[in-house]
Amino acid sequence: MSRNRITTRPLAFLSLLAVAAAALGAQPPTRAAQAPASAPDRLVAAMHGISSNVILDYVKELTAEKYGGRLTGTAGYDAAAAWTVDLLRGWGYQPMGDQGSWYQKFPNPYTLVLPGTELSLQVQQAGGGTIVKSYVWEKEFYQGSTSDSGRVTAEAVYVGYGVTAPELGYDDYAGMDVKGKIVVVEPEAPMGPMPDTTLFKKWRPYSFHSYKIENAAKHGAIGMVYDYHIANPNARFVKGLILTYVSGAVLDDLFAGLPMTHRQTLDQIRQTLKPASRVLGKTMTLANNTQHHPEGIGANVIGVLPGSDPALKDEYIVLGAHLDHLGYNHELMPGAHDNASGVAVLLAAAEAITKAKVPMKRSVLLLLFGAEEQGVAGSEYYVAHPVVPNAKITAFLNLESVGRGERIGVSSGVEYPAIYQAMERADNQYVHRAMGAYSNLNLARPRQDAAHFLWAKIPTVSIGTSGAPPLPYASYHTTKDTWQIMTPEVMEDLARITFVATVDLANR
Ligand SMILES: [Zn+2]
Repeated sequence: MSRNRITTRPLAFLSLLAVAAAALGAQPPTRAAQAPASAPDRLVAAMHGISSNVILDYVKELTAEKYGGRLTGTAGYDAAAAWTVDLLRGWGYQPMGDQGSWYQKFPNPYTLVLPGTELSLQVQQAGGGTIVKSYVWEKEFYQGSTSDSGRVTAEAVYVGYGVTAPELGYDDYAGMDVKGKIVVVEPEAPMGPMPDTTLFKKWRPYSFHSYKIENAAKHGAIGMVYDYHIANPNARFVKGLILTYVSGAVLDDLFAGLPMTHRQTLDQIRQTLKPASRVLGKTMTLANNTQHHPEGIGANVIGVLPGSDPALKDEYIVLGAHLDHLGYNHELMPGAHDNASGVAVLLAAAEAITKAKVPMKRSVLLLLFGAEEQGVAGSEYYVAHPVVPNAKITAFLNLESVGRGERIGVSSGVEYPAIYQAMERADNQYVHRAMGAYSNLNLARPRQDAAHFLWAKIPTVSIGTSGAPPLPYASYHTTKDTWQIMTPEVMEDLARITFVATVDLANR
């Protein structure tokens, strides 16, 4: 690393001088006047051309109301996709989608979540009368992003993880009558992938949101209160089920007056791996206003910059980021960090790649995914319907939530050190941002577009940022994930690293 630094630093310095001289209107050095700047100079100049202001403007654009929170399948998503295509076309990329277009389309049902929601709890008093407590949208609950539309009032029944797994000797619904009632359900499984990976794999199919929602409906529930206080369309729509995501405060109220608190009950299930389902003795009202579109069509945006080497141009360095977010959940979900930031960084690196005009032996493929928020459906579809052979992907760098913080984290960088080392070389030579690789086996349900690439054994890393000072409110999958909370400097640094590493990987 340090040897590289010594040899490249003077180059960087000379090119900075040239840029400064040009800016002052001075005559460039004679050699530069006779011939175009050398490839290393052009690389450094293009890297310095990457600006946090431009990247932040991209984030502002993508999070604007006109794109409606970029829910895949909606006109807002399509408009955001068209905006990226205009930029890529202008920079000299070529379309690689269906029939010579920029778009790879795939079936993608979606659900609009409209204003007009309600969540309340009713408790009968011993001496007659009823206490009614109404909850506040966003602070205490969200409409389920794939809820059916309607209003239900019914008894609430706690059914733990909502799992019926005969082969595991486990059934949260055993002995419980939930017909016509509202079930209260936990997300995930009673255990994580560690330390017992083999056992976790048996539980894994039951950790999916769609499974829990469908199992609730199968048992006759008409409503589901989910211990999951974010907006999230990562589930299938189930007709006849009103779904509401609630905070811990609502769960504490549901367990009030019972022998064990919600937390104690949950701990008991996790420790014993035995259900602790129970009648809660309270009635709830759930009302949601949604519109389901089973006919929805999603799209990935795909562009390519062909490589120059006759032998290597059939190999690809891939840059990816998901373009979509959650749309509206009553109000606009802007999705600045998740993942306008990833798209913005990708665009900045993509522009520098064509501006630098350095020889690129391998080709560069750009993938902007739809429907990441709907179960990583766009990337799953892409890996199953690739536009270039998956085996020809030398490296896939996925940019996921890279807008906030101080540090860059490279997930699966341990499994794919060649990619991480290219990023590290770029960082050590030019940027000097705190960065680290970590291991990710992707055992749990897929949460990032990288997952399906990793399962297809494609060399893949997923890049994120962390270390931002805590905010006084939650921003992940809420209305508060806005451009105002971004850290533009970290996006600029990462775009520079991504650009230089891409050129490095394309020529190595
Ligand atoms: Zn997300």
